[in-house]
Amino acid sequence: MPELPEIENLKRSLEPYLPGQRIQSVEVRRSEVIKHPDADSFVRDLCGKQIKSLSRRGKYLRIHMEDGSMLVAHLRMTGRLLYSEPEQAELPHTHLCFQLENGLLRYSDVRRFGCLWLIAPWEDDDFTGMAKLGPEPLEEGFSAACLMQRLSSRKTSIKQGILDQGVIAGLGNIYADEALFEAGILPQRLCSSLRPEEWQTLAAAIPPILNSAIQHRGTSFSDYLDGEGRKGENQMFLMAYQRGGEPCLRCGARMEKTRVAGRGTCFCPRCQK
Ligand SMILES: [Zn+2]
Repeated sequence: MPELPEIENLKRSLEPYLPGQRIQSVEVRRSEVIKHPDADSFVRDLCGKQIKSLSRRGKYLRIHMEDGSMLVAHLRMTGRLLYSEPEQAELPHTHLCFQLENGLLRYSDVRRFGCLWLIAPWEDDDFTGMAKLGPEPLEEGFSAACLMQRLSSRKTSIKQGILDQGVIAGLGNIYADEALFEAGILPQRLCSSLRPEEWQTLAAAIPPILNSAIQHRGTSFSDYLDGEGRKGENQMFLMAYQRGGEPCLRCGARMEKTRVAGRGTCFCPRCQK
């Protein structure tokens, strides 16, 4: 599933193409990916709208229109937004096609867990889930206190804690494993067992990991592509994720794989305490 760095990279890859363009038509082939409003209103309300800018919140991509309305996309497992020229072949499972003045924006999704919403300028967003998100880890103000305040009394694993989008926005399985490896903390530790200095180490580990993944244009194991259809390269730089059974890149010990918070989880039994 694309996480914060992949969505940030998607945003950056679409930014040269979308702002300033008017949406001329929208072709809907699978209306179930549109969660709000109904598909007919979605098409009617978007046609003629001019795109102003793009932004990201957690794992959500937001396309802002000049009139204040906002197209929101959450790609979940296999969603992809691709900008292309009309003559370029589309990906299989393309469900939506936005015809722009120049080029097309296509939404494809093999498993169809992804969601798109259109929010009118006067509407309160109580349906996308964005209102419940915790702080952005790359914004000023993110600190150990943000994590401690929300997690220090919880009797759940620290991995589950940092996967909670209401605690910190944008981490998924990849970057949770990477952050805990970098911080030297076992993923199965209870939140309530972390000492103050461990919260500090963990909070300090998260932004550099995300920034470095953005520099490498995201992690592409199978599905993730940016808005121009390119794979990222961060999979070559991962220290923990999917490295179970392989030697730790820091100490040489055999990395272990287990399940924490219902997710496949890799860690070094020697480097992580
Ligand atoms: Zn190690």
